[in-house]
Amino acid sequence: MSQTLKAVRGTRDLLPPETALWNRIEATARAVFARYNFGEIRTPIFEDTSLFARGVGEETDIVSKEMYTWEDRARAQSEKAQSLTLRPENTAGVVRAYIEHKLGETGQLQKLYYIGPQFRRERPQKGRYRQFFQIGAEVIGPPSSGSESPLRDAEVLEMLATLLDELGITGWTLELNSVGSAADRARYNETLRAALAPVVGQMCEDCQRRAVTNPLRVLDCKVPEDQPIIEKLPVIADSLDQESKDHFAAVLTALDAGGVTYKRNPRLVRGLDYYTRTTFEFTHGGLGAQNALLGGGRYDGLSEAIGGPKAPGIGFAMGEDRLVLTLQALDQKAAPPQVDAYVAPLGETVNPAALALARELRRAGLRIELGDGSFRLKKSFEAADNVARRIVILGEDEVQSGILTVKDFSTGVQSKVPRAELVSFLKQ
Ligand code: AMP
Repeated sequence: MSQTLKAVRGTRDLLPPETALWNRIEATARAVFARYNFGEIRTPIFEDTSLFARGVGEETDIVSKEMYTWEDRARAQSEKAQSLTLRPENTAGVVRAYIEHKLGETGQLQKLYYIGPQFRRERPQKGRYRQFFQIGAEVIGPPSSGSESPLRDAEVLEMLATLLDELGITGWTLELNSVGSAADRARYNETLRAALAPVVGQMCEDCQRRAVTNPLRVLDCKVPEDQPIIEKLPVIADSLDQESKDHFAAVLTALDAGGVTYKRNPRLVRGLDYYTRTTFEFTHGGLGAQNALLGGGRYDGLSEAIGGPKAPGIGFAMGEDRLVLTLQALDQKAAPPQVDAYVAPLGETVNPAALALARELRRAGLRIELGDGSFRLKKSFEAADNVARRIVILGEDEVQSGILTVKDFSTGVQSKVPRAELVSFLKQ
């Protein structure tokens, strides 16, 4: 016997009724983004590998060990073999598109959102998958469009708080930090390198490597034994220049005015190299170990890092899988939707008439399940009772007379309804 095939490790099938919850989350996100005047962008699911190497950073966990990369063979003389990668995140793709379509030349601030799958070869566990979905947004533009303003940061954070509220996700925490400018970070990296030198020998292997290649990444370490050492390291706030300090202070002032509560976390540096200044994460206690609902920050140098014009920006990505888990933990399970009526043909000769009737009702906006004339009446009733509020019986007599029999399962009442009145009857 051949082996049964299953979804690949770290990937999953999403089935109804749970997909109704996914759809509700996406519809709410689209509605909130529209009120803040964002438009949707859809970028390809795979990109040239160098986009992520240059955009996300060679030394990040994502690029160094989690990407799905392959060599795409040339199919014709005119094509070149190319290294391609399934996108592990969407910001680099959006910024590539911003550059490619010269969106900066409009002079306008670009406000773009996306919803889609991302791919990382991580160790799968609850809330962590190899194919997962992100809902994200980016605000990017030339400096003259106001893209560097701390008001943009505060507005994005306020929008996130509104979106989580409208989704019904209560009890989240916003953690906030500033990682400063590229120069501030270079300075901080040197400070860290010096502070790590005498202690790094006692840390995990990853930290020993990071201490040399990218000391900032040490702050991302989750190994419990390393935490006491990490807590004593100097904080980045002391390495910020005046401009970065002023920018961060302005973000906090606007958040206070907007009524958005936050917690400052001086060790929040996040796992992607492109961040500058404001970085943030929303966490939720209901999620367990993988407690980050979403993360984001400012990336003033990203466009230039991948060959584009100066285009400061700020954005975020929400883990949609984790929004679903959180809502389920808050007991917002998706109930299967109620079908308005089950159309039950009596006898196979009535099947065509039943299709015509179902079509009429569906076009009138009703949710209809269509049975089959080969079913005995008892079987039709059982099938209908499982999914629908009512059953509409259609036999030869009903086709001839134009009077249909409708039974309501909740009241047990059976009625005779003329076909012309059926839509309004079922809509009651
Ligand atoms: P990042 O792009 O790493 O900043 O992640 C942003 C958000 O995406 C996180 O806060 C998570 O909610 C979600 N996320 C990241 N990686 C995964 C994953 N492997 N599985 C599920 N969700 C993820």
